[in-house]
Amino acid sequence: MVVVGAGAAGLLAAIQAARRGRATVLLEKMPRPGLKILISGGGRCNLTTTRSGTDLEAQYPASRRRFLRHALRSFPPAALREFFAQAGVPSREEDLEKVFPVSQRAADVVTALLREFAAAGGTLVAGCPVRSVAAGSGGFALTTDHGTVRAASVVLATGGLSYPKTGTTGDGYAFCRGFGHEVTPTHPALAPLCVDAPWLRELQGIVLHGVDLAVLDEHGRERLRRRRPILFTHRGLSGPGPMDLAGDVEELQGRAVLRFDFAPDVPREELERQWLAAAAAHGARRAESLLPAGLPDRLRAALARLAGAEGPLGSLGKPARRALLDAVKDLRVPATGSLGYAHAEVTRGGVALDGIDPRTMQSRLQPGLFVCGELLDVDGPIGGFNFQAAFATGRLAGLHAS
Ligand SMILES: Cc1cc2nc3c(=O)[nH]c(=O)nc-3n(C[C@H](O)[C@H](O)[C@H](O)COP(=O)(O)OP(=O)(O)OC[C@H]3O[C@@H](n4cnc5c(N)ncnc54)[C@H](O)[C@@H]3O)c2cc1C
Repeated sequence: MVVVGAGAAGLLAAIQAARRGRATVLLEKMPRPGLKILISGGGRCNLTTTRSGTDLEAQYPASRRRFLRHALRSFPPAALREFFAQAGVPSREEDLEKVFPVSQRAADVVTALLREFAAAGGTLVAGCPVRSVAAGSGGFALTTDHGTVRAASVVLATGGLSYPKTGTTGDGYAFCRGFGHEVTPTHPALAPLCVDAPWLRELQGIVLHGVDLAVLDEHGRERLRRRRPILFTHRGLSGPGPMDLAGDVEELQGRAVLRFDFAPDVPREELERQWLAAAAAHGARRAESLLPAGLPDRLRAALARLAGAEGPLGSLGKPARRALLDAVKDLRVPATGSLGYAHAEVTRGGVALDGIDPRTMQSRLQPGLFVCGELLDVDGPIGGFNFQAAFATGRLAGLHAS
């Protein structure tokens, strides 16, 4: 059998197939395998998460959960960590439920995967882009720059479109379309956001914790909300919170609105009560002193300015107070998009899931063809969820391809 793409999904598929005694050839386009693993997690590779069970499944978009259930249950984070521990890469838990190699080196992950594949008797051919995949009588013919390769079954693990310099230029979509598979619209996801608001860009460098950021559609309906670190940049917003929203922002194609709640644990009415009491007791203080104490001064000043509430508390009328409440609890700014595939950690969209058997990753349209990893219409938030899905779906493909 042939596996196309030596990333997370392809390497796991290839190892499983080779361990089952299948003659396995792994074809990789780039001269070096596992490039995306090497740059992941800031070079440390956030392998997976400490979340498990339904809590783990709930982290993926609702429409993908059902599809992923079998893969995640048959290779949950604990089993993934055990697999890597056996392969010489013990892992440890860090903040935000993330799991990293104890060595803190993504290179160890790639080295271990290649070692396991070689030990199982598999053959890696790097620097060998696959140009086309065709089915004929008795199997598949893959055209490569080094000639035609024949195989009884093929696992496609070519990834998506993000970080194209690592080899992922969407080749697998064309291969799958050739077998009649639908490919859902693709968008950059987990990327920094572009925000067209000068006041926000002036806050470059600020980092916020404990603030809710949501993406709303053009009707004001909330699509996704995150309470994760936010970094203000010269282009807009970065950090885990904004990046988690990028897929939804991109899907809305210029119609997305971001909503900040800078005091997410205090209801609006309670905040107003507190403010009225403060105004009665300390009327001479500046209005921005009402704003949550944890916010940086530059941001507090900007919010007061936006609300037109810059005078003393005692002079704050009802309209200004309401505007300040809006600025704290319901501040809306349009998001024009993200920084795109060159900066996106994953691709949203891909090979439509109804064409793939979730128990085996085999195509429902072409027997012997298997599809796994980011090439599928599957993506998760920051925190190890994308490797978890890629490893788990790759493993299933490798267990079932003959
Ligand atoms: C900067 C960055 C940081 C990230 N950090 C994390 C993290 O810490 N934790 C996490 O969970 N996720 C992270 N991700 C996401 C994660 O890397 C991907 O979700 C995951 O690598 C997808 O695995 P895959 O095997 O499906 O695809 P990939 O890892 O993208 O592998 C696909 C492989 O197929 C090869 N290929 C493509 N076309 C062909 C062809 N025609 N012929 C032969 N080979 C081909 C490519 O060269 C590539 O090697 C990060 C992504 C990026 C870009």
